[in-house]
Amino acid sequence: MSFGGVEAGDFRKILIYNKDRIFAFALPLGYVTDEWYANAAGAINWGFPTIADTPIPEVLPTGITTYEHVVSNIPHDKIVAKAVEVRGLKVTVSAVPIPVAFGAAFEGERVRGEDIYLECGGGRTAMVEWVSSKRMDEVEDGKVEVIGPELTDVSAGSKLPLAIVVEVAGRNMQDDYEPILERQIHHLINYAQGVMHIGQRDIAWIRVSKQAVEKGFRLSHIGTLIHAKLHQDFGRIFDKLQVRLYTDKDKVSEMVEKARAVYRIRDARIEGMTDETTDMYYSCTLCQSFAPSHVCVISPERTGLCGSYNWMDCKAAYEINPTGPNQPVPKGEVIDARLGQWKGVNEFVFKTSRGKIDHYNFYSLVNDPMTTCGCCECIAAVLPMSNGIMTVNREYTGETPCGMKFTTLAGTIGGGISTPGFVGHGKYNITQRKFVVGDGAILRMVWMPKMLKEEIAERLKSRAAELGVPGLLDMIADETVGVTEEAILPFLQAKGHPALAMAPILG
Ligand code: SF4
Ligand code: ZN
Repeated sequence: MSFGGVEAGDFRKILIYNKDRIFAFALPLGYVTDEWYANAAGAINWGFPTIADTPIPEVLPTGITTYEHVVSNIPHDKIVAKAVEVRGLKVTVSAVPIPVAFGAAFEGERVRGEDIYLECGGGRTAMVEWVSSKRMDEVEDGKVEVIGPELTDVSAGSKLPLAIVVEVAGRNMQDDYEPILERQIHHLINYAQGVMHIGQRDIAWIRVSKQAVEKGFRLSHIGTLIHAKLHQDFGRIFDKLQVRLYTDKDKVSEMVEKARAVYRIRDARIEGMTDETTDMYYSCTLCQSFAPSHVCVISPERTGLCGSYNWMDCKAAYEINPTGPNQPVPKGEVIDARLGQWKGVNEFVFKTSRGKIDHYNFYSLVNDPMTTCGCCECIAAVLPMSNGIMTVNREYTGETPCGMKFTTLAGTIGGGISTPGFVGHGKYNITQRKFVVGDGAILRMVWMPKMLKEEIAERLKSRAAELGVPGLLDMIADETVGVTEEAILPFLQAKGHPALAMAPILG
């Protein structure tokens, strides 16, 4: 006990020291004699559990040791993992064993044109990333499987669908942590040299360069790096992690459906909470590596613009990592209740944008809107001629009535600045009650891509009904009506769209 500073005979302190600091356990293999029993009892009294391969009586309640005292009848191929689990040992992966360089330095790197070996997602194929929690016995730590073609099975310039399914298990794991782990996938994949990642959830997009493939990079390494890095950074909340990478079309579609059902549940957890019910919002600065002045401040009714983080997720992320990118932001004094501006938020944004942004409004795109980074699910823009607004989602690649496609919009306003007349936002946010409420709320919406209208139809209908215009969805134009302001105006007039009769949007 020389390093413990504990006196001989001070059994309580010795027990606590061993329990917290010495990661030992007893592994009796084969027949357990009376003497072994006595030794195991002694080990327990020292804070060390016993894991046996024979069916000796189990002592499952916890108390003296961290978890169970005696666990028995464990087959040899499971016994190491079981001992690690019962002892509460944390796996640390110190290096990221992949054949390309790995680190934050490669985060902003782009893979373009001739350099692309493989592309997944980004509107070209289906792609989804999904973290879910499982029971301890359902997860084999470090297991990575590729189901469908690997990189070596396709030629340069190929496209594949991709589902990255990460399953975690742990004594401290909660469903609430799933979105937090999932959101890390974006920057972790970007850390690999020669691999580019954009987006999240079911709109993720990845490109692997020829150079990376030449160096030996394979899809399986995505699993390897996620396993290593999540263990390093979030090992406190889970114990085991396995990754399946599907590139088989039918399997990917199946995973997309499953993940979407989960996303809906996650999004809806915030339903019913209003911005007025809390004095505390949360920040997210995860995207500062791409957009250095960008700070998302997330309120119950203003989900993060990437759609991945809502107020609950940020709160949970702060609890897991109190010095991380999600910090509590006291709202402070109200500066403008209609536009959604608070003194405390402004001060926080000023500090965290390093003096670049000194204020913004949560509920307006006309007046000093929130900053936008490149991951937003949708971008809304003012349409002056129709006295309304439009919004376009990332998956829609066509023209829009504001004169720009999504990619051009993202390139123009996505650098972490506040651009009056435009704002990035999440899909779910469109039907949250505070959505551009300072500009006249969703009644201003005159154009959306058809696919987006269909995706959020049910929620949009109920939100519109609350505002007294139950038929709003059918009054909103889409690309089948037109992709210029001139082309959609007659439609809006014929439908009697409410925006046309509202106060001037740029008034
Ligand atoms: Fe966080 Fe906002 Fe980036 Fe989403 S878009 S990861 S909420 S900073
Ligand atoms: Zn971003």
